[in-house]
Amino acid sequence: MTTLPAISLPVAGTGERFPVGRIFCVGRNYAAHAAEMGGDSEREAPFFFAKPAASIWSGWERDEDLPYPVATSELHHEVELVVALGSGAAGVAPGEALDHVWGYGVGVDLTRRDMQREAKEKRRPWALAKGFDHSAPCSALHLVSEIGHPSAGALELAVNGETRQQGNLRDQIWSVAETLAHLSSLITLLPGDLIFTGTPAGVSELRPGDAVSCRIDGVGALEFRVGERP
Ligand code: MN
Repeated sequence: MTTLPAISLPVAGTGERFPVGRIFCVGRNYAAHAAEMGGDSEREAPFFFAKPAASIWSGWERDEDLPYPVATSELHHEVELVVALGSGAAGVAPGEALDHVWGYGVGVDLTRRDMQREAKEKRRPWALAKGFDHSAPCSALHLVSEIGHPSAGALELAVNGETRQQGNLRDQIWSVAETLAHLSSLITLLPGDLIFTGTPAGVSELRPGDAVSCRIDGVGALEFRVGERP
């Protein structure tokens, strides 16, 4: 057996790396995106899905292109605030939840939308529509001691200079604190967990050669290019 590579993200402004444990994602956390996906905007409890830790991609550190995935002809972008946990928690109250946050980043929940649509129709799991190779590109993480806890701020994703997604963290249906409280009522949160906190409206297709540029005011930025089809 070869040595397993550690899965990690760089920590902005340091030489350190954050070891990634698990990745949880919130579905439909902005009303306008819930509507575009055919849901309603009523405030029902948040739902979650997971990606393998190995889905994390930070090839931008080495100037690499994001590998275009196999088994899709409809790769979609979803820009999201990423929360990185520094300590574990079970059954935490919203008022204490942010104490467990270590830092924040800018991520993209890449989705094989055609595969996800088929899974929805056939009432099958989304696992491989969401958790494929390189499906979780993420920026460097920014420490809470550097940026605090962002509760408002524009988040935006542009493709080839054209804005596709535009939203504001204050429009999250469930705040980061509420999301962590919900999730910790279902599982024990662990240090190293990442939570992708949902995407605003405007999800659309990425094609080979596209230049993707994401930013969240008060958090950071992520830029990458999409590689050729395999
Ligand atoms: Mn998402």
